[in-house]
Amino acid sequence: MSWQQDAGRDLVRSFGDRMAMFVRGEGAYLWDDTGRRHLDFLAGIAVNSLGHAHPVFVEAISRQAATLAHVSNYFATPPQLELAATLKRLAGTGERGRVYYGNSGAEANEAAFKLARLHGRESGRRRVLTLDNSFHGRTMGTLALTGKPAMQEPFSPMVPGVGHIPATIEALDAALDDTVAALMVEPIQGEAGVVELPEGYLRAARELTAERGALLIVDEIQTGAGRTGAWFGFEHAGITPDAITLAKGMGGGFPIGALVTYGDASELFFPGSHGSTFGGNALGTAVAGAVLGEIERAGLVDNATVRGQQIRDAVAAIGSPLVTGCRGQGLLIGIALTHPVAAAVTAAAQERGLIVNAANASTVRVAPPLTIGDAEIDEFAELFAASLAAVAESYPVNDAASAAGSKVTA
Ligand SMILES: *Cc1c(COP(=O)(O)O)cnc(C)c1O
Repeated sequence: MSWQQDAGRDLVRSFGDRMAMFVRGEGAYLWDDTGRRHLDFLAGIAVNSLGHAHPVFVEAISRQAATLAHVSNYFATPPQLELAATLKRLAGTGERGRVYYGNSGAEANEAAFKLARLHGRESGRRRVLTLDNSFHGRTMGTLALTGKPAMQEPFSPMVPGVGHIPATIEALDAALDDTVAALMVEPIQGEAGVVELPEGYLRAARELTAERGALLIVDEIQTGAGRTGAWFGFEHAGITPDAITLAKGMGGGFPIGALVTYGDASELFFPGSHGSTFGGNALGTAVAGAVLGEIERAGLVDNATVRGQQIRDAVAAIGSPLVTGCRGQGLLIGIALTHPVAAAVTAAAQERGLIVNAANASTVRVAPPLTIGDAEIDEFAELFAASLAAVAESYPVNDAASAAGSKVTA
């Protein structure tokens, strides 16, 4: 019995076929069940900030598991309070910040959705705006927020009170009326294919939402925790939001999410209005605290900037006719292709022991651990160049579109 057969028979079919079975990881490397080594330039989709089996991660889990894992939200624990203080400091909330803990990105965004409804409760503002092509999660609430009609269609009807608008300042200006409680945006749309907001968008969004009485909620689930070369993506725009949501990289591989609120938005939840049994448990918050502590201690936010540029330079130096350039910031990079062959390039990379992913039909997403250095980047450049060459050869660039189809993995 192969693992492929087991997976095909026993796992829910909501994902495509698993591409490999991994049994061990260390740093930026993974080993599969055949003993083969792979260079992991996806990091569990921007999750494994410190790479695999980092000693700080291992030590934090082991120590906290042996001390206290879970007590329910009837009680406080030191790790959850320490992490809240750290998140407030890093996010720049000042005194009037608060932290809600969940266990995933979707749960963080569900909390943000409820925050928006609470904000508009007295004024009658019931609507939340998000952007076309945005991704905010797969629960019913966050699927309604997600701006991808094809993902919503099988599950209609959607939760009401959500509007999707194009990512332009004009569209926002036109849509921000007195029915709107909040605007939720990703600083970089990771799942849409690492698509950046137009120049000046976040700044304009901050001004317009403040002026018209709506909250600005920034979904930092993929961009947060140092990934873009700042602790949070919104910092690049020099704004202060009303709330941010976090998950992915903040736990370094341990499932945890959070909503961090600023100022008046910190006063909206009241006792009994929201909760999660596991949310904010001592184990998860201890691990996230240790992961953020190590990112800070080792200067990994700056490393994301430096290594991100190094990867862009390396991709440009390959000089492949299939590559048009790179999008994104820091270590969240979308390598744009001239043709919809991202799935083929990803498959060619995997054959060569390099893990990347097709963020959309014509974009390869690269999101390695924040810990990478010269050796990993040199190896990436070599394997990625060979993968591009193989695809360019097997799909003559002119009819690549028809040859490769357009399989998109999210
Ligand atoms: C991954 C992601 C989510 C959903 O997070 P889950 O942990 O998968 O629920 C939401 N928003 C953004 C921007 C994401 O990248």
